[in-house]
Amino acid sequence: MALQLNRRYVKYFFEPVAESFEEGFWEAVKRRELVFQRCGQCREWLHPPRPMCHKCKSFDLRWEKSTGKGKIYSYVTFTREVNPLYVVPFEVVLVEMDDEKPVRMVANMLDTKPEELYIGMPVELDFFDVTPKQPIPIFKKRTA
Ligand SMILES: [Zn+2]
Repeated sequence: MALQLNRRYVKYFFEPVAESFEEGFWEAVKRRELVFQRCGQCREWLHPPRPMCHKCKSFDLRWEKSTGKGKIYSYVTFTREVNPLYVVPFEVVLVEMDDEKPVRMVANMLDTKPEELYIGMPVELDFFDVTPKQPIPIFKKRTA
C-alpha cells in the first residue's frame, strides 16, 4: 500500500519541532535532501541528531548528505488507525543506511504492499509531500 493520507485530517500532522541541534536535518528535508550528522573528529555517522558525538564526546558535528540507499532492518505494518491522517494499512520501516553505517532511520514506505516487505530489502530515498511546504523523507523499493 502506498502511503496515503486523508487530506481532510492534515491538521493532525505533527509539524517537525526541531531542537537547535536538529534544525540542519529539517532544513535539508525542506530542500528535499537527506543529511546526517557526522563527527568531525572520529568520523562517526550519527542519527537521530544530537548535540555531541556519542563515540568520542566531540561537539564538532557537521551535516553530510546521504546517498539515500539502505536496507530494511525491521518493519511493522499498522492495520489499525492511530491517527486519522494515515490511511491503514501503512508501513513503518527501520532502514539501515548502506553508506552511513551505523545509522538507522525510521520512515514510511512509499509504494509497497505489506506482503512485499522483508528484512534486508534494498530501499532508496524519496520524498513525500505532506503539505506543499513540508516534505518528509520516505523510502521505496530500490530499482537498481
Ligand atoms: Zn566522534
